[in-house]
Amino acid sequence: MSSHLFGAELLSLTIAQCSGQPYDDFNTFYLHLNPMLIKGVSLLQSGLLLKNRDILIQGNRIIDIGRDLKDGEGAETIDGHGKLAIPGFINCHTHLAMTLLRGYADDMELMPWLKEKIWPLEARLTEDDIRWGVKLGCLELIRFGITCYNDMYYFPDVTAEATREMGLRAFISGVVFDMKPEMLRDVEPFIRRWKGDELIMPAVGPHAAYTCSEETLLKVKEIADRHDAMVHMHVSETREEVDGFLLTKGMSPVEYLDHLGLLNERLAAVHCVWLSEEDCYLLAERKANVVDCTVSNLKLTSGIAPLNTLMKAGVNVCLGTDGASSNNNLSLFEEMKVTAIVQKNAYHTPAAFSAEQIWQLATENAYRAARLNMGLRAGALADLALIDLRRPWLCPETNMVSHLVYSMAGGVDTTIVNGRVLMREGVIPGEAEILEKAQRRFERLTEQMG
Ligand SMILES: [Zn+2]
Repeated sequence: MSSHLFGAELLSLTIAQCSGQPYDDFNTFYLHLNPMLIKGVSLLQSGLLLKNRDILIQGNRIIDIGRDLKDGEGAETIDGHGKLAIPGFINCHTHLAMTLLRGYADDMELMPWLKEKIWPLEARLTEDDIRWGVKLGCLELIRFGITCYNDMYYFPDVTAEATREMGLRAFISGVVFDMKPEMLRDVEPFIRRWKGDELIMPAVGPHAAYTCSEETLLKVKEIADRHDAMVHMHVSETREEVDGFLLTKGMSPVEYLDHLGLLNERLAAVHCVWLSEEDCYLLAERKANVVDCTVSNLKLTSGIAPLNTLMKAGVNVCLGTDGASSNNNLSLFEEMKVTAIVQKNAYHTPAAFSAEQIWQLATENAYRAARLNMGLRAGALADLALIDLRRPWLCPETNMVSHLVYSMAGGVDTTIVNGRVLMREGVIPGEAEILEKAQRRFERLTEQMG
């Protein structure tokens, strides 16, 4: 949203190619671990459902996919019969600690929502609130088959530590905005602390062009260039934001960012609801990534992003949920369905935005933006999920991509990140404690509010 720091915004995610990508070089851990063999699983290839395949994982990589693969000595075996393997999703825009604020304030106009509810609560957040809010968010991501997320919020070190403890992969931005100048000062040391970590990819998160001065944004660019880091930013979320730029600077936020040299393949531009056709082609020309957050934009009545125009222009469009205070969950299954349906209506044809196209936004486009070698293929990172096929909404076996986009209502039962099993047959170790701690942190926060 326009003046909220982290609620619902417009962004585009930046990442380069899935091979030779810098971030991927960091992910060479766990090579000492025993191999893992997933036996007899189903998977999708070019839209077709292939059955009874094996997936062999060694360390943090998928090393082979085929029939009757042999496990190595000491291999851990997972029975994949009756299950569908999908590559892990990347939720390309979150404020994960805000999961703690889910349901706290809904159905309000933007400014009262921010001023009366969200900002006073955010001002009281402590490191422990962030830690348990992030862990609560991680539980949800794991249960939705999301193996990586792209975050922007306060206390990035705490977010990174909690994420590592949970075993997820994440891009974590040190947020920057002018109201708190120390955040710009803190961002580069944060990047230095985490650069090279096998799971955490530190990034820079200038909140938006309307909350950061030109001088701040030029420093952000300098830092991002120096570290080859992602710039994660809300862009053109509301009509007011764009009108303000046109009035004061004579250019749109997208043109302004280009003028500052920030439009490039490392930019994750979130929201991008209010774009001109020229903006779309400029984003494409500069190879910037756009992160669409349809549900959040609808809930806050910000508008509908022009995805058809963006994709026609050749922009790499990905999907994110935004924070749970404006969505209110972190599910990309829901995000895929709503995005498809809304875009069909925006362009007045059910033929627009097929299930296959939407699936591409949530998977391959996100991997490209993240510059991570992900997907169900040999050599890719072992980030994947298994879905129980014996669920009524996945029956009959007509078109599995359609089911995943349009009818999925649960059933992710195993989630693996970097070769480690984080959830097995629906069980996440430590979940009960996290739920209890999150509840207590929320009660403490709201008690203080009187
Ligand atoms: Zn946001």
